[in-house]
Amino acid sequence: VGSDELRHPPHCMKNIGFIGAGRMATALARGCVEVNLVAAEQVLASDPHEESRTKFASQLEGAQVTADNAAILAACDTVVLAVKPQMMSGVLAGIKPHVEPRHLLVSIAAGVTLQRLAEQLPPGTRIIRVMPNTPCLIGLGASAFALDTTATADDAATVERLLESVGKSYEVEEPLLDAVTGLSGSGPAFIYTVIEAMAAGGVAGGLSPELALELATQTAAGAAAMLSQTGLSPAELRSHVTSPNGTTLAGLNALAARDGAAALQAAVEAATNRSIELG
Ligand code: NAD
Repeated sequence: VGSDELRHPPHCMKNIGFIGAGRMATALARGCVEVNLVAAEQVLASDPHEESRTKFASQLEGAQVTADNAAILAACDTVVLAVKPQMMSGVLAGIKPHVEPRHLLVSIAAGVTLQRLAEQLPPGTRIIRVMPNTPCLIGLGASAFALDTTATADDAATVERLLESVGKSYEVEEPLLDAVTGLSGSGPAFIYTVIEAMAAGGVAGGLSPELALELATQTAAGAAAMLSQTGLSPAELRSHVTSPNGTTLAGLNALAARDGAAALQAAVEAATNRSIELG
């Protein structure tokens, strides 16, 4: 038995429940089964819509589904609230009588604050708020989470294991979740725009739209992997592809002349500010 296995024994979590069996719940549920946190049989999900339940069950063979949110609390200590933000109050009102001290509630609803969640749950309920992003759906998520004052280090570890089954996860203080929302939450849309614009540049040079999009997409994936795998900074890696009077420098100069980097920074800041306004 390797030391890794001792630190993270298989099936070290108890049952895990999802209220709302939509896309994000399905991704998280599949992730935690894939990394052996729980067996599929230990995953339960509730959803009033039969179509969602059927889809969830078909994507995770062995998992149990129900229309009864309270049944999730009865069977699980860790419960992920994976409904849309506008459904949250109704869901909390329904489950409140069933919440006990053994429960850890994990909300992934965008913009719903710990305070709002706590106000609608029994005093002292352990709550963790998560900001995931869409690449969680394919196991490449960037998520951040914030603990309520009542949540413990064990609770943080539980959520970290869950989120790391679908990507990377980082703990932050709750006020920073707005910046996380602006950066990693909205960020995929900014990167799509960058990729689309670069592909358009390739098309202008005569490439087919299909080839241009493939090259731009693979270039973005490759550049991101260079950053995470070499540990070098963006500036260092940029200098490696930039020779004096070369092609890259001509491109970077055109980008600088149009304040390209400033525009991307402004996009993240505007998304962050909008998150603050909505919260
Ligand atoms: P989704 O619409 O796919 O899933 C929500 C599910 O909740 C649906 O299946 C719906 O039938 C179910 N539901 C509605 N009312 C319910 C109720 N009363 N009880 C139980 N279930 C109920 O949405 P999603 O994309 O999975 O998003 C879920 C949450 O994750 C949202 O709050 C969203 O803000 C958050 N989030 C999602 C993403 C993402 O990339 N999809 C990113 C960040 C945050």
